[in-house]
Amino acid sequence: MANNNDCMMQYFEWYLPSDSKLWNKVRDDGTHLSNLGINYVWLPPAYKGAGGTNDVGYGVYDLYDLGEFNQKGTIPTKYGTKEEYLNAIKVLKENNIKVLADIVLNHKMGADEVEEVLAVQDDENNRNVSLSNLTPIKAWTKYTFAGRGNVYSDFKWDWTHFHGIDWDENTKKVSVYKFYGKKWDEEVDKEKGNFDYLMGADIDMNNNDVSNELIKWGKWYYDLTKVDGFRLDAVKHIRADFFPKWLEEIEKELNDNNPIFTVGEYWSINIDAIKNYIEKTDGKIGLFDVPLHYNMYKASISNGEYNLSEIFEGTLVKERPDLAVTFVDNHDTQIGQALESWVLDWFKPHSYSLILLRQEGIPCVFYGDYYGVPEKGINPKNELLDKLLKVRKYFAYGEQEDYLLSTNVIGFVRRGDYEHSGSGLAVVMSDKEAGSIKMNIGKNHANSVFYDCLGNVKDKVYVDQNGNGIFSCKEGSVSVWIRDGQYVN
Ligand code: CA
Repeated sequence: MANNNDCMMQYFEWYLPSDSKLWNKVRDDGTHLSNLGINYVWLPPAYKGAGGTNDVGYGVYDLYDLGEFNQKGTIPTKYGTKEEYLNAIKVLKENNIKVLADIVLNHKMGADEVEEVLAVQDDENNRNVSLSNLTPIKAWTKYTFAGRGNVYSDFKWDWTHFHGIDWDENTKKVSVYKFYGKKWDEEVDKEKGNFDYLMGADIDMNNNDVSNELIKWGKWYYDLTKVDGFRLDAVKHIRADFFPKWLEEIEKELNDNNPIFTVGEYWSINIDAIKNYIEKTDGKIGLFDVPLHYNMYKASISNGEYNLSEIFEGTLVKERPDLAVTFVDNHDTQIGQALESWVLDWFKPHSYSLILLRQEGIPCVFYGDYYGVPEKGINPKNELLDKLLKVRKYFAYGEQEDYLLSTNVIGFVRRGDYEHSGSGLAVVMSDKEAGSIKMNIGKNHANSVFYDCLGNVKDKVYVDQNGNGIFSCKEGSVSVWIRDGQYVN
């Protein structure tokens, strides 16, 4: 999917101010990010959402309005204007940073008009079961885009382009309404019986006019923005064969048939469901390692009772390291969000060491960890992350060996390589008592001295003539050992 040294940053968090300034901020941040070794930036959805400047981007209203038309009470989106977006991408690329666009095609929100539609109500917890007969409802499904007119596309959406919706304007009642003649797609996640429906007006990918329009839009977007790849939203709610075809059409016309870097959000802790999606998509789409996030979350809330030796059990980075994008937290796992599972502060150094310093997976650093989340009183961890990113950039090379031998204290080494002078490192972490592990860091480090560059343990470690050293960490802490004389500041 990508190179071993790739490193990503998710450049937004849920509670950013609605000041339309993010595109300019990331533009000015390019050199700094590049120096840290970050070579992919994932930007939030760039099109107009139902909530105007307050929309984080997932309430998609008009895919063709990248902050260009006066719709939903504003020209710019939450993050800025179309010109600012295009310029940020250009400047990031000049800094050797590839840009991933966030692609939200599962649903639309904020329709312009209601339509009367016949619909049945499905059981929220088992969408294979209908609870009512066909009844007329008033659904917000007509999208006319009066503020844009026919610029870029004259496609107008109506109820026939959707599977269903969650609101009847007649009765003002929330439910899962499935429209007349529609059925939920089959190759979707099996949670709730069938998890095609997530939110808003659920787009019907079986409709030819819809899939043609979305392919047309994808080509327009890729060609216009010059992004390098995609982050695909909510893929478990979309039939598995949709995106491979969508990507192929864009690749064929605009990328000489070469694969476009893509990472999908399949939000599940069930590794078998994730592997099923990989099989159905033929390994074409990388995925975020959701199980690893939950393992780290569980460890962080278990007061030392988590079995650290199992931190990689059931994870994507263990099963399919070639397709894994590893992350600690994101905009959905934040405090107050739908999938809240925020890895507690004390375990963030552990978690970031586990994604940044190992050879498998592409790590993704979260904006809310790096810059903090002022809205929720979360302080920035840029000092810690600067160190770990630099350790990754300069020292995290060569053969890796794990010492996942006990429930409370685990470690691993990277033995370094000849291309990166002074490289090699040892990591030891604990979720309970202090501890130490005898680890072999390689004969190339025989008779040398290592120190903890995080500064948690002050003593130095002497590596013997066979490359063995006894590396330690403090209680509930992590230590990252590099060669004496090497620096990360
Ligand atoms: Ca869907």
